[in-house]
Amino acid sequence: MAPNGNKPRILLVEDEDALATLVSYNLEAEGFEVEHAARGDEGDLRLIENPPDLVILDWMLPGVSGIEICRRLRARDETKTLPVIMLTARGQEDERIRGLSTGADDYIVKPFSVPELVARIRALLRRASPERVADQLVAGDIVLDRTSKRVHRGAREINLGPTEFRLLEQLMEKPGRVYTRGQLLDAVWGMSVEIDERTVDVHVGRLRKELSFGREKDPIRTVRGAGYGFDDTFGK
Ligand code: CA
Repeated sequence: MAPNGNKPRILLVEDEDALATLVSYNLEAEGFEVEHAARGDEGDLRLIENPPDLVILDWMLPGVSGIEICRRLRARDETKTLPVIMLTARGQEDERIRGLSTGADDYIVKPFSVPELVARIRALLRRASPERVADQLVAGDIVLDRTSKRVHRGAREINLGPTEFRLLEQLMEKPGRVYTRGQLLDAVWGMSVEIDERTVDVHVGRLRKELSFGREKDPIRTVRGAGYGFDDTFGK
């Protein structure tokens, strides 16, 4: 990973000096090796010459914008899957959506807390490490961890109730398969339970609401007259 020791290398592309200093200082204290570029074109060049383990990109930068850098790095084989966190200004919802659709894994709104940033960095780096995926179901940007009982979409943790968790687990196990409401009741609630099949609809509705934010793609398919399934084209 990193040239010296085992520290994950983070490239911070940010033109606000005070913020860059604060973030660098704190990330170094958390055990990361931090490189800083104050201009977009400089960041772009460093990503070509020596890709880090993760990049934090400010949206508005002199030279080349964060979005453009993101687009470029996604187009190159060496950085196609590089974890990217985009920094945006408060209230710029459109930017966030554009950021995610351009290929950022996560975004964080300024002003943000450093512990929040650190948590997201760690989540993304965990996801990028293949040795950690053993007990996980992964589809597109959704990760369900059976051991910790946690679900993430990108770096965002999704808090599901136990029923929604089991429901998602069931659906993610066999992407593309359509389950009837009765089959889901059996699998998720248990055979002996007598529950109205509409209960399934209620819980699928809750699951969907938690899973998809803004214009994120809904991974659950409703098949009229049949039931529900996990979209096997999701994330592809
Ligand atoms: Ca800026």
